[in-house]
Amino acid sequence: MELQSIILPGIDPKRPLVISGPCSAETEEQVINTAKALKEAGVKIFRAGVWKPRTKPGGFEGHGSKAFPWLKRVKEELGMYVAVEVANVKHVREALANDVDILWIGARTTANPFSVQEIADALEGTDIPVLIKNPINPDVNLWIGAIERIHQSGIRRIGAIHRGFSSADKKIYRNLPHWHIPIELHRQIPNLPIICDPSHIGGRRELIAPICQQAMDLNFDGLIIESHCNPDKAWSDAAQQITPEVLTLILDNLVIRETNQTTESLTALRRQIDGLDNDLLELLAKRMRVSQEIGTYKKEHNMPILQAQRYDEILKDRIAMAEKMGMSGEFMKTVLMAIHEESVRQQMLIMK
Ligand code: PEP
Ligand code: MN
Repeated sequence: MELQSIILPGIDPKRPLVISGPCSAETEEQVINTAKALKEAGVKIFRAGVWKPRTKPGGFEGHGSKAFPWLKRVKEELGMYVAVEVANVKHVREALANDVDILWIGARTTANPFSVQEIADALEGTDIPVLIKNPINPDVNLWIGAIERIHQSGIRRIGAIHRGFSSADKKIYRNLPHWHIPIELHRQIPNLPIICDPSHIGGRRELIAPICQQAMDLNFDGLIIESHCNPDKAWSDAAQQITPEVLTLILDNLVIRETNQTTESLTALRRQIDGLDNDLLELLAKRMRVSQEIGTYKKEHNMPILQAQRYDEILKDRIAMAEKMGMSGEFMKTVLMAIHEESVRQQMLIMK
């Protein structure tokens, strides 16, 4: 995909690109105080939600246009770039008319191709940088589709934001990271910068630092982190916002590992992994062939494909073995279930 850098003039091209600011622009004072402290922390791009998508009505839905003069002050008095979320054509027009520097498309919007197309059409003829959050559901193609729609409108400075995926399982994370999805996005569009949003993944401030480090270890290009001059009193997403001072601490403690220098020994180890993956594939193919033979047998003897008891025994036995070999039972269960699914699919082809 033909893309241009999202690094704006005056911004350090080193990893990570940092965007920070409150979930929502609440008051002029909150915007200016937070931005001043962030500037001191070295942040160059200020984020603030002006229109807030809320799960239920009645929450703070943002001030809309009333907040733009506050953002203008951040630009003019502090020399920072400002970024806001847009969800429809009206938002795009107002943001452009108010000299916003960067737009982002929220997770709920990315999930809806109609909305993304409407935004793309409104962007035609402009060249503002646009960051596209992943859709709330874990669907890499829906994410790529949104990126393509924006790209087709002529926008070239595009970035992706990984903010995790909605799930009923809220044990640790507010939104599950499913790291393999942004990794797959990177595999498909290698030159697209990816920014991690630890605030919406974690949902709690204690999780911000570890998620930032994980994102850096996975070679993400940047971080977008919610910060607020008085997080506990925030009008939205209070539990996940941090002060600009804490942000400084987190950024200072990040370990950024060099990525473009592959050492000799690393190359050798990677080759070993390639080889082992080959072996794994061959073994899997062999297992599928045996499974097909079983399918033929079942067909000839009029037996059902699914033999629940046998499947259950296999699961228990292999999970116990995996645990003895130092792997997690959960992991082995996932692998076996995926293998079983493919095995059943192949037997069904034979039965037809
Ligand atoms: C936000 O950035 O404040 C926001 C609403 O995020 P998301 O679209 O990821 O939920
Ligand atoms: Mn938020």
